[in-house]
Amino acid sequence: MEPQIAWQKMLEVIKTEVSPSNFGIWFGNTDVSEINKNIVTLSVPSAFIKEQLTQRYIDLLRKAAVSIVGEEAQVDFLIDPSKLQKKKPKELSEDMFQLQEAPLTPRVLNSKYRLENFVVGLSNNVAYAAAQAVVQNPGVSYNPLFFYGGTGVGKTHLMLGIGNALLDKNPDLKIIYCSSEKFTNDYVEAIRSQKMGDLRNKYRLADLLLVDDIQFFSGREGTQEEFFHTFNELTSKNSQIILTSDRAPHDIAKIEDRLKSRFQGGLMIDIQMPDLDTRVAILRAKCIERGESLPEEGLSLIAASFQTNIRELEGKLIQILQTLKARNLDPTPENIGQFLDNQPQNQPTSLNHKQVITTICDYFHIKQSDLIGPKRNKELVLPRHITMHILSEDLKMTVERIGEILGGRDHTTVMHGRDKIKELINSNREVQKIFIEVKHTLGGRG
Ligand code: ADP
Ligand code: MG
Repeated sequence: MEPQIAWQKMLEVIKTEVSPSNFGIWFGNTDVSEINKNIVTLSVPSAFIKEQLTQRYIDLLRKAAVSIVGEEAQVDFLIDPSKLQKKKPKELSEDMFQLQEAPLTPRVLNSKYRLENFVVGLSNNVAYAAAQAVVQNPGVSYNPLFFYGGTGVGKTHLMLGIGNALLDKNPDLKIIYCSSEKFTNDYVEAIRSQKMGDLRNKYRLADLLLVDDIQFFSGREGTQEEFFHTFNELTSKNSQIILTSDRAPHDIAKIEDRLKSRFQGGLMIDIQMPDLDTRVAILRAKCIERGESLPEEGLSLIAASFQTNIRELEGKLIQILQTLKARNLDPTPENIGQFLDNQPQNQPTSLNHKQVITTICDYFHIKQSDLIGPKRNKELVLPRHITMHILSEDLKMTVERIGEILGGRDHTTVMHGRDKIKELINSNREVQKIFIEVKHTLGGRG
């Protein structure tokens, strides 16, 4: 049986026992890579996902494998981060026009932003899995879907990618894409011209409402009220809502509590800046889209010099490609290096403890408040100990300070945790792999 078909069959079994939210996270980026007699090998994107699948779902996976290879079924895993990166970016259409905002006409979505050309890595795989889940089941599993994260990390791309995918499935879908400022302006204008009815007809009839950068709703009471009612009406008829923001709802000032709690009622996902390997993969994909190519070394140089914003990274790539062409230069590392004003920073620069904590929580899919808090659940212990180790070894913090950062723990607790994890890293291959992946993720930030 073709691995792909086998996986589809297994998913049918799995879906019956896993909630939609867990499904996307733990099975979204998993595949069958090989079937050999009674052994079904699953490829998973990270050691952590493998661990979780083994701990939580091994019986279910075995049961699903039985439906493929019979009673003697065994499940094995293969960790393959590259599985995350989509195969080949689709041909792009000519109309690479700028983002526009106009209601209810499908053409408004910038067709450049597609899920197929969104490069997936550790920083955004959960967001990507959620995006796929929404495409499969709009209005059902995650409503609203809320992406937050810094500038240029791919929030708008992912949101419009979902829009385009749903539009492919149903060309008649009524989609509205707007910025929160556009919504605000429409609201102000509707009041001024006494045409609230028009406004409501426009927004409340959407099947899919995409609102970008909702942090700008801050302090705008009337707009928030109108949006609140729009939100309720749309969700009550299962229209899908997707929102982005540069920060989490609870960190946006001057937003009504009832609106915050609506935002928090769906799925909120933090998108981080991609690590170095993913940035290289993004650059590679952007080159292919433009029908150009650069040697790997050149791509790495560029990727290493931009650590905070994919938009800037892409801008730099385009500038370099154009200049090389105009001056008829070979794409050697030396020639490319000239265009990078800052020295390539392969070493993580001054990583701080907040970044360490954010990255670790992101990797393990746990909340910061849980990592720092008093709970002693098993799934919190490993992340906590790894945090202690990294703060101590890499950031050279004292055990007292680490205890403070981790919610006021005693320094002897920190010493114990730090020593425990060192020993585990040496003795347990799973833990070792996880540790290496966490370090790798941290290496791409900073
Ligand atoms: P944000 O909305 O978070 O500020 P955007 O979605 O506008 O960021 O992304 C900025 C640019 O970077 C876009 O051109 C987008 O295509 C590109 N980009 C960001 N993340 C990815 C990714 N994972 N794969 C491919 N391109 C990406
Ligand atoms: Mg954006």
